[in-house]
Amino acid sequence: YDDRDGLIWMDGALVPWRDAKVHVLTHALHYASAVFEGERAYGGVIFKGHEHSKRLLASAAALDIPSRWTAEEIDEAKDLALKANGLTDAYVRALMWRGSGEDMGVAAALNPVHMSIAVWEWGAYYGDAKTQGAKLDISRWKRPSPETIPCHAKASGLYMICTQAKHQAQARGCSDALMMDYRGYVAEATGANIFFTRDGKVHTPTPDCFLNGLTRQTVVGLLEKNGVEVIERHIMPDELESFEQCWLTGTAAEVTPVGQIGDYNFEVGAMAVDIATQYEKLVRGNR
Ligand code: PMP
Repeated sequence: YDDRDGLIWMDGALVPWRDAKVHVLTHALHYASAVFEGERAYGGVIFKGHEHSKRLLASAAALDIPSRWTAEEIDEAKDLALKANGLTDAYVRALMWRGSGEDMGVAAALNPVHMSIAVWEWGAYYGDAKTQGAKLDISRWKRPSPETIPCHAKASGLYMICTQAKHQAQARGCSDALMMDYRGYVAEATGANIFFTRDGKVHTPTPDCFLNGLTRQTVVGLLEKNGVEVIERHIMPDELESFEQCWLTGTAAEVTPVGQIGDYNFEVGAMAVDIATQYEKLVRGNR
């Protein structure tokens, strides 16, 4: 991803893609003092762009990273990055981190805060699975407890276990992994939230130790508008066999039906397909 044309917004300037670099003594590289956002622009407008900017600031605050930018300034920077690259339909990756500075130890209070915004075209996150249903592995890695880590922040450090889980899933021929939480309840995939259906009702895990995704919140709103009952609760893994349909939600994933989790199979059914279509209409109608 580093050797290509384009411009990346870095600390207020648009720099050539290949020159958007950091020093090896960057605090974030050693101690994961970084937070980020994943967003999508449709027809030139970032869906829930301002909410994403606010979430970036909330994540930064959770990690004691004092932002040098307001949510409105972040909104402007993202628009600038899109325009500078001539993109209207693109993925937007904002990153805020502690750079190298006075201190090379764990403390980072004296290290400068940086931000970058890169935008690029990114098609269906799960490829063919978008229509055929994704196949998920069941990960041995668990989502940590809120007492262990700021688990509601979109913090880079939290993704270490996601990468581990995803590598294992891919080695087993799966698109992603379902992760349980520290108590053993069904949590989420490595970059997306999860929903199930049974007897016309929707069940989704309570987001009490993982990201309550903006797409998740949007989809809950759409379902409720359709008059579908959405039950947010703790879900045990042995309930998987009782569910009929399943789908994932996320900015990158959008709404992707799931066909299989471990040995359990799900139908790519009407509710999953309908909600995917409604989400698509909503994000595109936003321009
Ligand atoms: N969980 C994780 C771990 C994620 O990385 C994401 C993607 N940001 C989500 C859930 C979904 O969040 P959103 O819908 O806000 O993109």
